[in-house]
Parts: sequence; structure tokens; C-alpha cells
Amino acid sequence: MKAGSARDDTLLNGIGVSEGYGVGRAVLLEDICLDYSGVKYISAEKEKARLEKAIEAFAAKAEKEAKELRKSAGEKAAEIPEGHLTILNDPLVRLQLEAAIDGKAVAEAAVDYVCSELYNRLAKVDDEIISQRADDIKDIKESLIGILLGVKGADIASAPKGSILIAREFTPSVICRINSKNVRAIIAETGADTSHAAILARTMGIPAAFSVLNARQIINNGDKLIVDGFTGKVITEPGEAEIIEYEKKQNAFLKEQQGMKAFFNMPAANESGADIRVCGNIGNAAQAQSVIQNGGEGVGLFRTEFLFMNKKREPSEEEQLEAYSSVAKAMNGREVIIRTLDIGGDKTVDYLKTEKENNPLLGLRAIRYCLKNSPIYKKQLRAILRAAYFGNVKLLLPLITTPEEVRFSKRLINECAAELDGKGIAYRIPPLGIMIETPSAALISDLLATEADFFSIGTNDLTGYIMAADRGNSAVCPLSDVFQPAVLRAIETTVKNAKRAKIPVAVCGEAAADERLIPKLVEWGVDSLSVSPSLILRTKQAVFGCK
Ligand code: PEP
Ligand code: MG
Repeated sequence: MKAGSARDDTLLNGIGVSEGYGVGRAVLLEDICLDYSGVKYISAEKEKARLEKAIEAFAAKAEKEAKELRKSAGEKAAEIPEGHLTILNDPLVRLQLEAAIDGKAVAEAAVDYVCSELYNRLAKVDDEIISQRADDIKDIKESLIGILLGVKGADIASAPKGSILIAREFTPSVICRINSKNVRAIIAETGADTSHAAILARTMGIPAAFSVLNARQIINNGDKLIVDGFTGKVITEPGEAEIIEYEKKQNAFLKEQQGMKAFFNMPAANESGADIRVCGNIGNAAQAQSVIQNGGEGVGLFRTEFLFMNKKREPSEEEQLEAYSSVAKAMNGREVIIRTLDIGGDKTVDYLKTEKENNPLLGLRAIRYCLKNSPIYKKQLRAILRAAYFGNVKLLLPLITTPEEVRFSKRLINECAAELDGKGIAYRIPPLGIMIETPSAALISDLLATEADFFSIGTNDLTGYIMAADRGNSAVCPLSDVFQPAVLRAIETTVKNAKRAKIPVAVCGEAAADERLIPKLVEWGVDSLSVSPSLILRTKQAVFGCK
């Protein structure tokens, strides 16, 4: 650790964006200098020729990277450099570059200007995924200017065995050059979970911690480090015992990953032949890829409230349609269960003004909020109906406590269908499911089964409401336990009532991945489990292990 650093501990915290543990020595990557102020403009022809040559070199590099990635990390990873080529081959981008050169800009300045304009436009879009794509533009800009100036970045491909690379940020093209046999982990001072860089790190199996503030000020080249890609924790100056502990953890993690690969293409079935689908829970459209990459058989829960929470305003019907239909298309015929807006309680959205409540968990949450705010609800329902036209979409209602809430929702769905008919817009009315996550819903699950096409048991809220214990309050933690007999009884009753009514029943709360609970769920006859994408293979393995 650097002398004089304000830190007196040996722990840095970032966000874990790619699972696994890395133990190794720090290799600091300096920012490269892309100062082109000394480049002289000779003529438009000369600048255009320089630019053309640089684009050719860029294209050759991107094609090589795509080819290597296709072999080492699969099709999805290869699409990233290929996407860069598509952007650069866009006729409009080319015209803008030429126009800038005709206006007496040197090739470097033309690239800087056109890419920065595009970057600013994308970065401002109030959508996390699109604004993350702005990073790709920055990547293209820096690579092209680097090629034009003849500046070589750090020789990342030859980082020695046992390196932990630390940079201000990792662009996808830098990650593509990493030799994953030598590099144990990467640390970035900026960056987020949904960036292409993070997706690539995950695909290449490189543990990564992003947004570790001032990492390069605090850490020296050659320092011993431990990176925890699950939590984003970076341990500086680790002791021998800690190093051994984390090396063991990484070996166990790799062994587990290897063992679980066997379950990738298999539907989860146990020894007695019970067939249980294991699906993934997602909070944004990009995470559908994680479900596919982890062998998920569908999206069992799309928590749409995050689309609303990640914005400064309500997403429009078209924006919602784009998010929902992109998941439906990506899942290519596999089931996609879209849950309607579940705000209130611990999930607040500032711009959706709600009255201050003394007891928000028992207040105007989820379906209750939606039914009181039907314009917002109907906008979402229309987007879901339209998305259902593109795939195997199902609709799920959160926090149901009475049959009337379901009936009223059906009426609104029919109104939406009539409105879409009126406008000649294609749609499909999806099967309608109910979340069982309140004591009332579990107790009247026989009655609710007559209103629904399927059930999905939300064990998180069900546990909290049955035990009257807030899941976020550590003081009442032992009560907030799915193994409390009352909670188990509620789950069993719900499954039995679903079976009697011959409707499918899923479990989508965190307990769906609990290896201790899975045998009971299998025994009772649950049809599917929906878990975090990173837990899909582990969950399949647990189902296989059931007698
Ligand atoms: C649940 O309550 O179990 C559930 C899946 O919903 P959420 O965690 O989004 O409240
Ligand atoms: Mg819930």
C-alpha cells in the first residue's frame, strides 16, 4: 500500500461484477496519452486517407478479437467487438467524420468530435443499459485515436502469471486483450455491473471488482492483493493465512463451476423423475443473457419495478415494450414471466408521488398502488400485452390478497386489449399468474386458484408477512426464516391447492435456491423454481440430488 495513504485499514470496497476470487500481484495500468494537439492539418484528402487506414487497422483488430473471443468465451462475447465495427461502418457516422475533416479537423479531432457527440447523447439517455453502451463509443474513440497517433497501450496480453490488473476503467477492447490464463482478477476505479466490460469479464471467467475508488492511488505495482469478485472487496497486504484461505475458496469455486457445467443443458429432474424447471429472476432486460448463459430454462420473475426505479421519470409504454419484448425475443420461446409494478414498502420511486404512510409495508404497495393509479398500471399492461406478441410471455400480479384484485386487473387487461384493437396494434393476452406472498393469499389459495392460470410463491414477503417480521430488520432475523413451521405450512397449502386446481406452481423467492428447502418443494410437487441467474446451476444440481 502506498505510504501516506489516508487509509489505515487493508480493505477497499467496490462492487463485485464477476464472480470468483483472485490472489496475485498488482499491475497498475496508466492512462494512455491521446494528445493530438501537435498534429497538423495538411489537406482533407490526406486526413481522410489517414482515417481510412486507421479504420482498416481498427477493423482488423476487432475481427481478430471477435475470432479469438468466439473460441475462448463464446458467441455473445464475440458480438462486442463486432458491434464496434457495426457502429464504425454506420454510413451516418462515416459522413459525420468526413464532414468534420472537410471542416478542417485532423482525423484525430474528427474522431474525437463525432464520438464525443454520440457519447454525450447516449450517456444522457435515462436508461442504464443504453448509457452503458456509451462506454463502447468511448472505447472506439480511444482505440482509433491511439491508432492514428501510433500510441501503444500497455502490453496487457503479456501481463505475467498471477497478475491483478488495475485501471481507471476497463473498456471491452482492453478486456479482450487479457490473457485469462495469467490474469487472476481485475480492478477498476469506475464501472458498473451492466457495462459490456463487466459482461465480458463474467463471460471470460475473470473475477472483477469495479468502482473501487482511488485504487491506483492506494495500491503500488507489485503489491500482493486478494480480489473478491462476489462482493467487490479488495484486500491489500493479505497475510499468509488469508492467501491460503482465498486460494482454497477459488479452487472450490472452480471445482463447483466445473461440476455444475454438467447440468447446463439438462432439465432438472430428480431420481424419482419429478421434472422441475429452473428459471432465472431478472431486474432488467440485459440480465436475460445471464439466465441463458447460466442454463436457465426461462425467466421466472422479471421484477419490472427496477425499470421505474432506475429512471428519473416514468418509462413510456414504448420504452417498457422495448425492455419486455427484448427479453421475450432473447429467450426465444422459453417462458418469460413479467411481474407488474411492485413498488411501495421498501421500494420507493420518488417521481411516483405516494402519500406518506406510517406503515408502508402494510400500505399502498404493488397491486394496490396499481389499482389506485390505473393510467400507470394500464400503460404497463399494454406494454406487456404487446410484448407477449413476440414470445412466450406470462403476466404476474404481486402482493395479491383478494380475488377482487385479480378480477379488477382482468377487467383492465380487457380494456387494454380493446384499446390496442382500436389502434390496430398487435398483441396477445398472456396467461395470468398470482404471487402468493401474503398470509391471505396462502390461506385462500383454493379460491385464488380459480382466478389464475398459475401461482408463483414469493417466499421473501410471505415469510415476512406470516411471521410479522421485517426482512430488512436484523433484530428480528431469526423470525424471518422460511423454515418457521407457519411459513412451511403456508407453502405446502398453496402447492396442494394449486395441484387440486391443476394449475402450475412456482417458487420465486430467495428460498427457491435453498438446498435445504428444495427437497421439500420437490416432494410437495412444485413445478418450477426461479432463482438469481448465478444460482441456476447450483439449484439444478440440488434438484438432481433429491431422492
Ligand atoms: C418475494 O417476495 O419472495 C418476491 C419474489 O418478491 P420481491 O423479493 O421482489 O418482493
Ligand atoms: Mg415480494
